[in-house]
Amino acid sequence: MKKINLLLCLPLLGIILFSCQNPSPKEEPKNNDAMLYSTLYVQNAAEYRALCIQAYQIGQMRLDEKINNYVGDKKFAVVVDIDETVLDNSPHAARSIIENTNYPKYWDEWCSKAEALAIPGSAEFLNYAAEKGVETFYISNRKAHLTEVTLKNLQLRGFPFADQDHIMLRTDSRDKEIRRNMVRNDYDILLYFGDNLGDFLTEFDDQSTVTRNDLVNKLSSQFGDDFIMLPNPTYGAWMSAMTHGTDATAKIDSVYRTKLKNF
Ligand SMILES: [Mg+2]
Repeated sequence: MKKINLLLCLPLLGIILFSCQNPSPKEEPKNNDAMLYSTLYVQNAAEYRALCIQAYQIGQMRLDEKINNYVGDKKFAVVVDIDETVLDNSPHAARSIIENTNYPKYWDEWCSKAEALAIPGSAEFLNYAAEKGVETFYISNRKAHLTEVTLKNLQLRGFPFADQDHIMLRTDSRDKEIRRNMVRNDYDILLYFGDNLGDFLTEFDDQSTVTRNDLVNKLSSQFGDDFIMLPNPTYGAWMSAMTHGTDATAKIDSVYRTKLKNF
């Protein structure tokens, strides 16, 4: 095709070459270098490990308090997200960086291996909760066809309640509130664990950075109380929030640069 254009009209060659060097703004540039440092942090920094352990140890203190102060007659539950809350998928991020690919490439393959390690402190905490009579519900936006391999992974890492009755993956909606309400029918949920604010409240979904931060300020007393936050610097709604409401044709990297707070 290029040869035909070259023969017919030389100026078109320049246009073709220009467009090869400058992909359409609508095309997401496949440059995963931005994930390099965050993935190295998750896989290497003792600080990351300490943050995760800290989160689950705070959870354990709160669990004891809530059980001791409980007034009611329902069974107890804790609700946990799965990815980057109880299972570490950083090897998938590593593959994405090395091969310059994006989700969902290799995601099903990675999940099917059922080899994800437990997030530090998570299995210990959930087994502690089980000893106290607290059931765990795994509410995740992994797609439902991954249920079996996800349960296998959780079982291999020693998580309690890793069975069909305690796992709710995504079917039609990403909104987790519907699934949280299903748990609330029979249980009092004492604690929620997540790496994404939508793991706690639907109000955080599809919002701008400003709105999300304002809402965190408003709900600040709940963090470290019934909402226990895990760190995830690699991906999440915090990234899409930065481009919320911006021109869909804008280059993502250039939008991110505008979010830097300089002095
Ligand atoms: Mg998650």
